[in-house]
Amino acid sequence: MKTTEKYIVTRNACKLCTPLGACLAFKGIEKTVPLLHGSQGCATYIRRYMISHFKEPVDIASSSFSEDTAIFGGKQNLFTGLKNVTRQYNPRMIGIATTCLSETIGDDVKHYLKEFQHEKDMFYIPRLVSVSTPSYTGTHADGYFNTVREIVAAIAQGGETQPFINIIPNMVSPADIRYLKNVLADYGLDYVLTPDYSDTVDGATWNDYQHIPEGGTRIHDIIKMGAAQATIEFSSTFDAAKTAGRWLAVNHDVPVHQLDMPIGIQLTDRFFKLLEEVCERPIPVWHKNERGRLLDSYVDAHKYLFGKQAIVYGDQDFLVSMASFLSEIGIIPVLAATGAKTGRLKAKITDVAPDISAKVRVLENADFVDIAEMAASLKPDLLIGSSKAFRIARDLNIPLIRIGFPIHDRFGAARIQHLGYQGTQQLFDRIVNAVIEANQAASDVGYSYM
Ligand code: SF4
Repeated sequence: MKTTEKYIVTRNACKLCTPLGACLAFKGIEKTVPLLHGSQGCATYIRRYMISHFKEPVDIASSSFSEDTAIFGGKQNLFTGLKNVTRQYNPRMIGIATTCLSETIGDDVKHYLKEFQHEKDMFYIPRLVSVSTPSYTGTHADGYFNTVREIVAAIAQGGETQPFINIIPNMVSPADIRYLKNVLADYGLDYVLTPDYSDTVDGATWNDYQHIPEGGTRIHDIIKMGAAQATIEFSSTFDAAKTAGRWLAVNHDVPVHQLDMPIGIQLTDRFFKLLEEVCERPIPVWHKNERGRLLDSYVDAHKYLFGKQAIVYGDQDFLVSMASFLSEIGIIPVLAATGAKTGRLKAKITDVAPDISAKVRVLENADFVDIAEMAASLKPDLLIGSSKAFRIARDLNIPLIRIGFPIHDRFGAARIQHLGYQGTQQLFDRIVNAVIEANQAASDVGYSYM
């Protein structure tokens, strides 16, 4: 029985803190250091989450509020932090995100940054881009989208249209970003992908310590985003009028195509069809063959999956695309749960998976206690989402397919692919094998051949 109505607090949130999304976006810009305007604990929590997921060093500075700062304001702390970061890292950009505390006391960060431009003892001032990210009004996904928009709005300029496209990929894995770059290269397209954290949080070994890891979208490239032929943006439920792509459309007349994340055949077909239209070239044979193999595997494994029920949880945009994919392979997502609250999730799932949407319960503003309570009555065959539902999976003795962010109890999270025919194939194989493994483990006799 659901008892959540008694509670006005969130218990084990099914979302992450808003500046976390901001930090990830800032990590995707070359020579950029994120700085959180608030208490040290916020930076520590976010660093802890990102390091555990990506298994890479992640530096995040803090303006390090004290009791005094919380009462009298954090301007001087912010100035000290900016000076220290500039001196120690020599960055090209510092990305400043607010936290709950600095938002609550009403620090006017944009005004402070204007004042900082006149500081006398600075030999060099990097670009400063700030974003408002109070965690009590959104999720990490909001932090990510708002930050990408602020970066683009602060840096991009217009100009005569040039033969390249912008691509804004949503909060996907570094492996997904590398895949997208390969796809665009296979189409022979020039592009600016923003933000690109595929190297900065999943790089190679270093011989010498690097203060700021190599990689990230070049600022020089962001400047020209206003002259692109088009922008492709993977965004399903974020306010479509407030994305970076929409900002470029309104301010620089760059046509924007907002697509659901390409997971599953239906949504990946839409992405590839759009690429065909934009560059007037047919799908490269390599990708056509990947699609064919994926479809073949759907047929081969149908008998294992048909009629299974899953609970999916996490970012709303992931849930939309996963619902589409699961409906293709015969799995009913009986519950789609998210800590976000946009009011748009049910309609989007109905849009991409009309055949099954009546069977999908959508729970916005959910926490993991809600999910555990509903899982106990829905009795799903599997859970799909971050590692945070591990205890629910263990209690129900069902498989947990780890996707998205964060994954804190497995290795290789940065290299999990979700997007395109290739990422879908990997997800599909993992789901089929998890179901087979559960059947095998539950069998008295076991079996060696299928
Ligand atoms: S106080 Fe707010 S910004 Fe800081 S870690 Fe907690 S939720 Fe995030």
